[in-house]
Amino acid sequence: MYINGNWIENTALSHFAVTNPANGEVIGEALECQEAEVEQAIQAAQQAFKTWSKTTAYQRSKCLYRAYELMLEQKDALAELMTLEQGKPLKAALNEVIYGADFLLWYAEEAKRVYGETIPSARSDQRFWVNHKPVGVVAAITPWNYPISMIARKIAPAVAAGCTVVLKPAESTPLCAIAMFKIFEQAGFPAGVVNLVTASNPAPIGTIFCAHPAVRKLTFTGSTAVGKHLATLAAPHLKRVSMELGGHAPAIVFEDADPVHAAKGLSLVKFLNTGQACISPNRIFVHRSIADPFLAEFSKRVDAMPVGDGMNPSVRIGPLINQAAIDKVDTQVKDAISKGATLLNGGEAVILEGCEKGHFYRPTLLSNVTPEMKIYREETFGPVAAVIIFDTEDEVLEMANDTHYGLAAYLYTNNLSRAMRVFEALEFGIIGINDINPTSAAAPFGGMQESGLGREGAKEGIFEYLETKLGGVAI
Ligand code: ADP
Repeated sequence: MYINGNWIENTALSHFAVTNPANGEVIGEALECQEAEVEQAIQAAQQAFKTWSKTTAYQRSKCLYRAYELMLEQKDALAELMTLEQGKPLKAALNEVIYGADFLLWYAEEAKRVYGETIPSARSDQRFWVNHKPVGVVAAITPWNYPISMIARKIAPAVAAGCTVVLKPAESTPLCAIAMFKIFEQAGFPAGVVNLVTASNPAPIGTIFCAHPAVRKLTFTGSTAVGKHLATLAAPHLKRVSMELGGHAPAIVFEDADPVHAAKGLSLVKFLNTGQACISPNRIFVHRSIADPFLAEFSKRVDAMPVGDGMNPSVRIGPLINQAAIDKVDTQVKDAISKGATLLNGGEAVILEGCEKGHFYRPTLLSNVTPEMKIYREETFGPVAAVIIFDTEDEVLEMANDTHYGLAAYLYTNNLSRAMRVFEALEFGIIGINDINPTSAAAPFGGMQESGLGREGAKEGIFEYLETKLGGVAI
């Protein structure tokens, strides 16, 4: 834990073990914080806010820029730690570190662009002006699937805006959080500006975050169920909340698209992070006329994806985070097969030599998926591609929007009018058009409906941490 500029080495506190999901080996431990430490961290943030909120954007930018440089200098070590702790293949871990560092750079720049405005008044003797002030102490809760970039995506805009932060990372990946806070320490953030608390049981900390009078804002990335729970706890205190929650992304391949190109793109994005991503395509809709070449190419690519320990450079599919994740995936696959889906690849958990305690599932391709199947309705968060055959644009739009989630969607078409039409009709916050990576520090990321509230990244991201203040003056 890192509180008020100090690493807490309190031997009276117990520790919890952190394991490698590829082989079950214990790779480290983190402190089990109690209520007292959460309170201390919030108080430290409250105290630091008094001065940090008055620093110039140039001062805040300098710390962020230094943190960005340090992240890049240490990118290989950070990636290796992430692979050991979270399981994703080393190359993917490195990409994530660079993606995370991009947020530090973007908000180092964006800190200086929090502009106000003047507004003409209907009264000749009146002037209006608007400016922006940091909201105050921010409590942040981050997930294990992107254990470094999600921290950067929250902390960078918060501190750029002049807020101070208390972060609780996921219990599966506290070591990545500790590594990030070492970088913040080296980058010269003053004591109390960023604080870290770790625990194996998140619920008591969430409860304190949502009710503490000094916390003005909660920013959360995780499951829709936990997000709703935290929003409910925060509501009586009228705390501002940002929520990045689950997804159930449709990907639509129209008859005018190149099926081979689409299969290449979608097989890449589907199996990124072993499918453990909220923007992972969970329902792949393919037009009947091109289903055969699409499935043949997709299946060939799935066959060529080695499963194993992410430290092995040839591995494409790392472990799932735990046994519960394997069970969920397997239940969805078995349910689909029992209801008539066709299994083209995979379809089972696998035990690998030397990694007997790892949580591996073979990359799986199902076709002929229908609305009666669990996988059609529920987020999978695993390496399963579910293909649904469709006939008309109207039909597929209805099916794609038939979910309470609204995070990402993808479409492949070579018809410009259709691309525009479908973009407008899809009720999702992020839409990739012939593109599988519509994410960047410069672009607003976030969901509609039960996928969340607010946006991260882009110019929108910093405004999540700012209040709008109006001045009206009679002259
Ligand atoms: P996932 O299903 O991806 O693990 P969760 O929503 O359970 O997603 O976890 C995301 C983050 O939310 C993690 O940091 C986890 O510790 C935290 N979390 C889970 N349950 C609670 C809770 N009741 N209160 C506060 N934080 C929680």
